[in-house]
Amino acid sequence: MNVLIVFAHPEPRSLNTALRDIAVEELRAQGDTVRVSDLHAMGWKPTVDRADFPTLPPDHRLQVAPASAQAFAAGALTDDVRAEQEKLLWADVLILQFPLWWFSMPAILKGWVDRVYAYGFGYGVGEHSDRRWGDRYGDGRLAGKRAMLIVTTGGWAEHYSPRGINGPIDDLLFPINHGILHYPGYDVLPPFVAYRVDRLDDEGFGTVAEALRVRMRSLHTTAPIPFRRQNGGDYVIPTLELREDLARPGLTGFALHRSEAEG
Ligand code: FAD
Repeated sequence: MNVLIVFAHPEPRSLNTALRDIAVEELRAQGDTVRVSDLHAMGWKPTVDRADFPTLPPDHRLQVAPASAQAFAAGALTDDVRAEQEKLLWADVLILQFPLWWFSMPAILKGWVDRVYAYGFGYGVGEHSDRRWGDRYGDGRLAGKRAMLIVTTGGWAEHYSPRGINGPIDDLLFPINHGILHYPGYDVLPPFVAYRVDRLDDEGFGTVAEALRVRMRSLHTTAPIPFRRQNGGDYVIPTLELREDLARPGLTGFALHRSEAEG
């Protein structure tokens, strides 16, 4: 299988880099072909701006979505963006790896999503009509592929538990797992999260490294998070609300969008 790791850490001697190398080694040992987009090492341009749309006439006001649609359709996106899109189409599995910074991904990785998920590629895919609201949330250009996060945190596991002050980790990662990965079609695996890593000693590192190896060994078989598919009949079109009969009393928020939440 082909695996793409998109990696966001500025330091080659970091814990994250060491964990990435363990993941790559384990995947290659089991016969996978692995490519890594190391965003800092690549000098990835992290913001969307006019330079992303070289064929946009200078006197046109930049509207990102239409400019993106036009450039994607014309094959006129910049070479760095097209190269990442090709890697996504090549990969059977996408892994995003990053340290949790301010409860989310580092800006350089968000900028990778903003630029690589062009209109027509990451969004704006499929029929938009009274009967269908595009191919997204389980359908889309990347449907049939798997994706997962590898995340490290300074905070303890308890801080991210259901009563923890930071909020549950599944809630914090929902915008990435559901909004960035499930949206263009991926089956999203439960994340690998290494907590409380800032003063990790050799023993702690060994434990995290082994847990990561175990997760890499089951990358192709682990059951995905059971996010509901937008076009699977659970949602009302065009309001995109979960059908009333599927909403268990008292259950609200992100948990509604997992089918295991049914009563
Ligand atoms: P490093 O600093 O590279 O290493 C961490 C420890 O691992 C070190 O003690 C190192 O010695 C040890 N280590 C053991 N073995 C190895 C090895 N083989 N190779 C390398 N290192 C090893 N945390 C939160 O919980 N929530 C947040 O919202 C949050 N926001 C943050 C925002 C910013 C801007 C920053 C800078 C940090 C934030 N943090 C937050 C903390 C952050 O998530 C952690 O610092 C990060 O996950 C640690 O990963 P690292 O790769 O940078 O670790």
